Formats: sequence, structure tokens, C-alpha cells
Amino acid sequence: MNVAFFNNYTRSQIDLIEYQVKHGPKVRLMVKRDDLIDPLISGNKWRKLKFNIEFALRNKKEGIATFGGAYSNHIAATASAGKRAGLKTIGFIRTHKIDSMNPTLAKAKDNGMKLVPLSRLEYKDRQNPEFINQLQQQYPNYFFVPEGGSNDLSEPGIKELANECLLQEGYRYIATPIGSGGTINGLMSAMPNIPLIGVAAVNDTPILDSISSRINKRSIIHTGSLFGGYAKFNDDLIDFCLDFFKQTGIPIEPIYSGKMFYALCNQRHLLGLADDDVVLAIHTGGLQGLEGFIQRKLLDNKQWETAISFFGKHQRLTFLVVLFAFQSQGLSQ
Ligand SMILES: *Cc1c(COP(=O)(O)O)cnc(C)c1O
Repeated sequence: MNVAFFNNYTRSQIDLIEYQVKHGPKVRLMVKRDDLIDPLISGNKWRKLKFNIEFALRNKKEGIATFGGAYSNHIAATASAGKRAGLKTIGFIRTHKIDSMNPTLAKAKDNGMKLVPLSRLEYKDRQNPEFINQLQQQYPNYFFVPEGGSNDLSEPGIKELANECLLQEGYRYIATPIGSGGTINGLMSAMPNIPLIGVAAVNDTPILDSISSRINKRSIIHTGSLFGGYAKFNDDLIDFCLDFFKQTGIPIEPIYSGKMFYALCNQRHLLGLADDDVVLAIHTGGLQGLEGFIQRKLLDNKQWETAISFFGKHQRLTFLVVLFAFQSQGLSQ
């Protein structure tokens, strides 16, 4: 089974960092660096795809079919994971037309993903069993994974993340951003008694209500750093993301990780955190999405180029170190 890119991984590092809040306290955080796992299969998408890929290979599927927006981290991750696992991939994309200038879609296509545009109306049916059945008939030997990659098979991958977090001591909460809710649901199942902070990045009331109804009483679901909703942001959030990178060397983006870190640094009073409470924050990745914002001129290339090139360099460095470790292991055998 060709899943070396999953199996070679041991565990992501945890960085202890300090961030000086403007006109506020110096905050200490532990950061679980899942963003460093892989530049394209990043963060929680790597965790969620792992056992989906394994399932597809074990069941001799021809490929994986899935859904996503035009700048989706999950689409980028699925295309890349599929290519490396030797599985075909299909992405049903919420767009009227596949834009060849879109960096996320261009890379997905390079990685062999077949891109199928769905209108906004069609896309609304992405979870409708009848619609999926219809698509399944067109692509009979494909394994269908929902948008965001959250399903039963994503849970064991998140459980591995939870187990890595449990090896660490000295924090009061574990924090994650919330999109489809797959990550926080997996964390809840794996460690029902640990206090979690879920920071909503998507304003989806049914998802947030269902999480709130099941999570332990000491946990917090925070909707105070939505900045207007999914993929919305303002200058305050952008300044924070850039300043956070400048102070800590950890690149973040304004869609998911930036909103979580904003809450953990600038809104501690809203979360009921004392100045010296330490939170273990899961950096869920997603840096690939930055390029799409720059391409659409929603973010300024000059402001972000160090964060992006740093990200690329760090990834290459990690890759070389892993390659070296792998080779020297081979030599010693
Ligand atoms: C998809 C994604 C999330 C949301 O995770 P869910 O499991 O869907 O809640 C958070 N952060 C990043 C970077 C993501 O790409």
C-alpha cells in the first residue's frame, strides 16, 4: 500500500511561544504544528484524509471523489494525497467555471485531479444522498468523501492527533478552529474530559449547536472572532496575523488559524482566560489558501511575501531533514 507519506510521519512538534498583545499581556501558548506536516496535505486535512486514503486503497477503489470551494484546503490536500497514494481524484468545485488562474485549482489539476464545476444551486445538494447516489453512478468505483473531509474515517486520524496532545503537559485547554466541525468532534470523542476551546471560523448555527450540545461543560465554543463569517476579515485581523508571524515566526492565515489565535491572544477576557493560562493551540494548517487571496488582490503580496516564502522554505527544510533521516536509516540497516 503506497501511503509512505502518511506512514513516515511520527508526530508534529509543539512550540512554546510568547506573544506580546498590543496594550495587553504577554501571552504564552503551546502550538501544535500540524501546519508543518506537509505543504499541501496540511494540518487537519492530513489527519482527516489518512484513514480515508487507507480505506480507498484497501478496498481497491479507483479513486476519491470529494467537494469543495474554489480555494479549499481540502481540495488541495485530496489532490495531493491521491496523487501520492496512486489514487485518482475528482473534485466537485463550487464555481460556475474552473478558473485556470486560481492557484489552488491549478495545483490540484497538476496533481491529476479531475475538476468538475457545480453551480451554487447544485452545490447546495452536496450532502443530499440522492445527489451523491447520482454522482456515484457516474463514477462507480470512486470513494466519496464529504466536503471538508469529515466522516467516520476522519475520526481515527483526529484521535492520533488527540493522543499526541495528551503526551504534552502544562496546558489548561486545547484549542482548534471550527469549520465543518470534524476536527473538534474527533477531539471530543477521543478525549471527552479535556476542556476544549473551539473557535468558529464559519457561522453555521446547526453545526455549532450540535457541538455545544455534546461538549463537556468546561469547554468553550467561541463565536466572537468570526469577523463577519467564513473567509471574512478586516485590517485588524490582517495586522494581527502579520504581527503574530513577526513575533513568533509561525505563519498563520486569516481564514482559520488567524481567527483562533486572535481569540487566544486578543480576546482572552471573552474566553475567561487568565493572563497566565496556557492553551495548547492546534495549528490546523491552511497556508496554501493565502496564494488565492493574493491572486485575487484581497491580500497584499508585499505584506505577506515573507510569511509565504518562510512557509515554503521551512517546508523544504523539513522535507530535506526527513529525507536525510530516511536515507541514513536505510544506510544503517
Ligand atoms: C478545514 C480547516 C479547518 C476546519 O476543520 P473542520 O474539521 O472542518 O472543523 C480548520 N483549519 C484549517 C486550516 C482548515 O483547512
